[in-house]
Amino acid sequence: MNCGELINAVVKNDMCIGCGVCAAYCKSNSIEMKVNQYGFYTANPVGQCNCEGKCIKVCPFNPEPDELIKTEDEIAKVFLTETTKQHRKIGRYINTYVGFSLKHRAKSSSGGIATYTLTKLMQRGEIQHVISVKSDDNPNAHYEYSISSNIEELNNAAKTKYYPVTLAVALKKIKELDGKVAIVGVACFIKAIRLAQREDHYFQNKIGFLVGIICGGVKSTFFAEYLASKAGVSANEFSKPQFRIKDSTSTASDYSFGCLDKENSHKNIKMKAVGDMWGTGLFKANACDFCDDVTTELADISLGDAWLEPYSNDGLGTNVIVTRSTLADEIITNGNENGDLSIEILPESVFLNSQQGSFNHRHDGLGFRIKSKTDRANLIPPKRFDNVKISPLLKLIQLFRMKSRAKSLELWANNKSAVEFDNDISSCLFTLKFFTKINHYQRAILRRIKNIL
Ligand SMILES: Cc1cc2nc3c(=O)[nH]c(=O)nc-3n(C[C@H](O)[C@H](O)[C@H](O)COP(=O)(O)OP(=O)(O)OC[C@H]3O[C@@H](n4cnc5c(N)ncnc54)[C@H](O)[C@@H]3O)c2cc1C
Repeated sequence: MNCGELINAVVKNDMCIGCGVCAAYCKSNSIEMKVNQYGFYTANPVGQCNCEGKCIKVCPFNPEPDELIKTEDEIAKVFLTETTKQHRKIGRYINTYVGFSLKHRAKSSSGGIATYTLTKLMQRGEIQHVISVKSDDNPNAHYEYSISSNIEELNNAAKTKYYPVTLAVALKKIKELDGKVAIVGVACFIKAIRLAQREDHYFQNKIGFLVGIICGGVKSTFFAEYLASKAGVSANEFSKPQFRIKDSTSTASDYSFGCLDKENSHKNIKMKAVGDMWGTGLFKANACDFCDDVTTELADISLGDAWLEPYSNDGLGTNVIVTRSTLADEIITNGNENGDLSIEILPESVFLNSQQGSFNHRHDGLGFRIKSKTDRANLIPPKRFDNVKISPLLKLIQLFRMKSRAKSLELWANNKSAVEFDNDISSCLFTLKFFTKINHYQRAILRRIKNIL
């Protein structure tokens, strides 16, 4: 098969996450990224590629990777050579921390450590440019990956955007830049960059640092449209969506979505009023259900929300932090010493607790999800967590999650009204929530019994 056919097979199997690294890597420029009918970027082979099957090698969902880079474990061995610890769920690492940047926290999504780290890298001269996600002039997209070459531009890219983006254009442009770049990305994007670095020394030398964003799933453009509609703005008339508006008087999870309507007046809605958008899988990419990298294991530093008490009680937001290179660890420890950061060491077990929901879904349920795709299981890359022995209750939860994910995309593609959507998806969500609740009760009872014994 040539490159186009191999990439097409990934797209047809609904496993393309839209990272666009294949498009940036392809020497014959034969791959274009386009948004599909469900609001996700996917790769589209155009014309004849003469890369002799090489483009597929940088795909994070390549079903047949080389043995030496079969999973994140093998790739980490190549790149993360300075690590001192290893855990099967966290990957290779140096330290786990919790905390925030005093200066960047208020204008960031969690504790502002992503923007702080990138700022320090620029100030120290380790890198000269950053590829991160910000709003651009493109009328077809609210957010895009773009290049910042000074600290002011970099600060404008802070905050989490639950919005599909692709690296294709920005990554192609790095050839025009003097100096090194840092890139911010979720796990599958970071994996694709590592694969490109392994395949091509140019990327290896040019990309000096990777900031990993711990990710609970890539959302379609439909997610922003749905939230706008919930906030009272028509799905095709909103602009400037903001996904993480903090409430400093409340808890970290009590954030809002906001946007402008066509008169430029601001509308917003508390996410608690919208309901669970993560445990239900709504508007999520299919490929995310086949990713077992919860902590963005291949980055120099991995950052997430500290979804655990006492940190989650602080509405200003706090990061969990995993350092995986000495440069990353030095930036965090120096920042703490000089008073830029408020940081504590976070014991490994507490860090694991902060991402428990994601581990439950991505690790424990993965084997069953792969098995349920009997017709296409051979098109899923090798996985490290493929235990199929889960309880019948957990199997039901997985089935209904997959169903609600797929159904949310079909429904929204046909009718972009939140009122009708809520009505049409309600029975599916009701059943999913019912089984999930029983599971939570069961876990709580088992925990109590364990404590008594
Ligand atoms: C799609 C998605 C899902 C997430 N799910 C979880 C989760 O389940 N659990 C968890 O603990 N944390 C999750 N996060 C991470 C969390 O929301 C914060 O981004 C992270 O804690 C860093 O916070 P910060 O305050 O240090 O970042 P900031 O200082 O606010 O900087 C954020 C950086 O991320 C970049 N960025 C924004 N959107 C994207 C994007 N879509 N793709 C790549 N880069 C982007 C920005 O350009 C900026 O450089 C998710 C983030 C995203 C984008």
